[in-house]
Amino acid sequence: MPTELFTARPSLVSVAVDAPFAGLLDYDKGELSLTNGQWVEVPLGRRQVLGLVIAPDRLEGLVDGAEPVREVAADRIRQVTRPLTLLPVADPKWLDLMAFAARYYRRPFGTIAVGLMPKWLRDLKNYAEKTAGKKTNFDRLMEALGNRTDRDGFETGQAADQASAGEQGEPYGRSEPPLNSDQSAALDAIRAPGVYVLHGVTGSGKTRIYTEAARRCIASKPQDQVLVMVPEIGLTPQLVARFAAALPGVEIAVLHSEVSERERARLWLSAATGLARLVIGTRLSVMTPMPHLALIIVDEEHDHSYKQQEGMRYSARDLAVWRTQNVGATLVLGSATPSMETWAQIRRKKYQVLSLSKRATGEPPAPIQLIDTLKDPAKEGLCTQSRQAIARVLADDGQVLVFLNRRGYAPVLSCSSCGWSSRCLECGVATVLHRQGPATSTPTDAGHTPNRSINKWRLQCHHCGLESTVPRSCPDCGDADLSPIGRGVQRLEDTLAAEFPGARILRIDRDTVRQGKALAAEIEKIQRHEVDIVVGTQMLAKGHDFARMRLVVVADADTQLINPDFRAPERLFSTLIQVAGRAGRHEQSGAAARVLVQTRYPQHQLYRYLLAQDVSGFAEAELADRQTAGLPPFSHMAAIRAAYRDEAKTRHLLRLLRDHLQQFAAQNSWPVSAYGPVARYPEMQAGKWRGQIILESDSRPALHQLLATAEVWMAEHRELDCHIDVDPVEV
Ligand code: ADP
Ligand code: ZN
Ligand code: ZN
Repeated sequence: MPTELFTARPSLVSVAVDAPFAGLLDYDKGELSLTNGQWVEVPLGRRQVLGLVIAPDRLEGLVDGAEPVREVAADRIRQVTRPLTLLPVADPKWLDLMAFAARYYRRPFGTIAVGLMPKWLRDLKNYAEKTAGKKTNFDRLMEALGNRTDRDGFETGQAADQASAGEQGEPYGRSEPPLNSDQSAALDAIRAPGVYVLHGVTGSGKTRIYTEAARRCIASKPQDQVLVMVPEIGLTPQLVARFAAALPGVEIAVLHSEVSERERARLWLSAATGLARLVIGTRLSVMTPMPHLALIIVDEEHDHSYKQQEGMRYSARDLAVWRTQNVGATLVLGSATPSMETWAQIRRKKYQVLSLSKRATGEPPAPIQLIDTLKDPAKEGLCTQSRQAIARVLADDGQVLVFLNRRGYAPVLSCSSCGWSSRCLECGVATVLHRQGPATSTPTDAGHTPNRSINKWRLQCHHCGLESTVPRSCPDCGDADLSPIGRGVQRLEDTLAAEFPGARILRIDRDTVRQGKALAAEIEKIQRHEVDIVVGTQMLAKGHDFARMRLVVVADADTQLINPDFRAPERLFSTLIQVAGRAGRHEQSGAAARVLVQTRYPQHQLYRYLLAQDVSGFAEAELADRQTAGLPPFSHMAAIRAAYRDEAKTRHLLRLLRDHLQQFAAQNSWPVSAYGPVARYPEMQAGKWRGQIILESDSRPALHQLLATAEVWMAEHRELDCHIDVDPVEV
């Protein structure tokens, strides 16, 4: 037992390290006096590593059933090398968050608390003197932190904006119009600690509420810190500029995937020491230590990119809720289409909903119309009505957005003689035909026989990324007549170029834009009206403000409509509402703005709510369906996934696991059901068959207890390469 050992060996101390076992390690601290949350250097195997000291009274509940690993014989216990006193002692509330995340998402505590530290801070070389008495890299970093010039990851309001007001007492920035009554009411309501859902149609002025709430928070207490989370890096430049304008002189740390490792370390330290009052970042930023955290804002809270899909499969939104409650802070969840999880909490009166039902610019929402493709068939991807509408807007000097959520040229390449189609050798799914480089000036030439200019074409697997060349002829029958089937954005771009030769067309997707900065540059082109038609994927749907966008055409949403994933309707509805929100945001485009959706299923229930732009009506209907089916948010789910080369064996073992778990649950009267095994999509990846079983329960504690049992089994079947996903978003 821990206590005995501690009395027996008072110099023992428990240390978390980034290693794949659940417990902590014991070290001898010798004469050192170490406190809970202190960072240390310790030996591990033949290396020296970063460690985090955990006091004995804080051990309980750190990880389910995890006691320090004590197999080491007492005489082999090693010494703590040295304390790293320059690193700020970890805040107890932050340690709580790390412990909760580890327990809830079933990961070793050390891999979260230590393993998610910026890499630069985990690298002990940075704390070492190269020559005696000389400055370490860490010293230099601290100097940079104290020095207010030359910091690319920091924004200070002053630099970013002169126009806005910052003086105390001024209710809003001078450059911004006054808050409208809905905005003032919402801002006023966000007073007491708690969770608030800011449900506002696109363009209703949610961002203004965020900046004002942050300003009020930072102005009211000298130390209070604010965390702002955004789903994608592409959104940050615009957003950062707006916060900087609203908060002149305030230290803002922008954490995203494109900052250098050293910079990340510096920003982390600035947040951990309280210097940065505002942190803006993507999902990982929820883990940032912020000792004076008082307000969290999660923009587009429904967005699936808040869920990490590998390693610790956490939901940053859910952790933000937990963290808020643990520190007694305020959380604002903003969205035009809140998630079903959030609606359910609103119904249970756990969250308070604040609505912004009108656009802040006063423009009415652009009406949405369906085009029945049975009556007006899409030729080359576009219906006649869409072509005519595009032509009219272009003639009028307006901009058009054509949305198709499918990358590449065509989803599959097929042989018209024998029916062969291109497939990934690893995954077995269809490979997507991609054109390399820019579109040709004569799209018809490029369009139909890709093998005419083979070098420019590639087949790409969208699951594993594997690329291959396009065969000159059918590998099965030798016929040279291979044709692309279906349509991706590249092909649609060709159609548009052929149909509207005078128009300036810009395509935006993961192939043209790989970095946030690049996206920001493309967005600016649209805003400067250097582009007439924008054609693109999901990337375009979010957050951007285009003044002249008068028409949005949704080219094809039908594949998503028939997707069997229970979350597919929710996702599609939210995407369509977002895309529709790009039209007619300002007076230049407002009056005539329209949204056209081409579909074969105009009778579908989802479209009824879409046409009425009835977000809460859709949510009610969707929640009713979920409740009837016993699906989340009315039950809790976890997936246990395996990947192994032999399908039959994997299925067999997963079946045994399912039965074992079912029996165990029944014996203990835990209300958990186990289903499966079912194949995942795609079934094969890197030569392994992928399957899962699903656990479902009304009781989270019961579900987690059963997961602990599953982990024992998983440890005995390491060859299956299993992992657990708690609250999976794709089933
Ligand atoms: P959202 O974040 O809800 O999409 P934004 O905060 O980006 O909305 O606001 C949409 C547009 O309305 C922006 O151009 C913004 O400048 C403008 N806006 C915001 N608040 C007001 C207001 N109170 N009066 C006039 N225009 C406003
Ligand atoms: Zn063939
Ligand atoms: Zn593949």
